[in-house]
Amino acid sequence: MATLQLKQIKKSFGETDVIKGVDLDVNDKEFVVFVGPSGCGKSTLMRMIAGLESATSGDILIDGQRMNEVGPADRGLAMVFQSYALYPHMTVEDNMGFSMRLAGVSKEKRREKVLEAAKILQLEPLLDRKPKALSGGQRQRVAIGRAIVRNPSIFLFDEPLSNLDAALRVQMRIELARLHEELDATMIYVTHDQIEAMTMADKIVVLQGGEIEQVGSPMELYHHPRNRFVAGFIGSPK
Ligand code: ADP
Ligand code: MG
Repeated sequence: MATLQLKQIKKSFGETDVIKGVDLDVNDKEFVVFVGPSGCGKSTLMRMIAGLESATSGDILIDGQRMNEVGPADRGLAMVFQSYALYPHMTVEDNMGFSMRLAGVSKEKRREKVLEAAKILQLEPLLDRKPKALSGGQRQRVAIGRAIVRNPSIFLFDEPLSNLDAALRVQMRIELARLHEELDATMIYVTHDQIEAMTMADKIVVLQGGEIEQVGSPMELYHHPRNRFVAGFIGSPK
């Protein structure tokens, strides 16, 4: 089980306030989507949740435990970025197993975990290939596979599909929804794609200028947008 709470999270870079006091509750196994225009602070918020960036003030709690001083490797989460750098000289199997190798996991155990993830992601026939022999969608699946083998209780996705073409994005959306069912994990997903937000989310968080404009289910936001900004972003007729 994995819940996440943000309590009055703020982040400044020098004089600039980038996140201005965010409160948010994410429930166990929820699929939460952050939307908002470029520069509104989505990635900064994700990096703070992941522990890659410290908050200027406020608290981050996972399962009720304060995480502020806990390093990224010990938060029980895994992050998939838009630019997923795979190691070009390593096979798919070694790319997926690399974090376990660093953690000292045995070769047999690594192989077992990689095979399990490869099965879920339909990467089994590709385990011996190098990244350059893969399509964009296959590479992105390897990046997701690297996250799965770590058994995270929370997945963080920061615009993972934005480098893919439209048809592949549709396919990957379906695969991610299936993954969410299959892994029973809590997922937080950043996108600026309104269709992705509306179709994938249990809960949408609309951000603007480092603040939350509105939180709600896709239907709540569509039918009851709090203001024109939310309506415009969600595409509701109001
Ligand atoms: P988004 O992901 O929503 O596009 P970001 O979180 O990347 O937005 O950025 C939010 C704001 O914070 C932007 O104005 C960006 O320029 C600024 N910012 C992000 N990271 C840094 C940093 N390391 N130093 C200074 N400013 C930053
Ligand atoms: Mg971003």
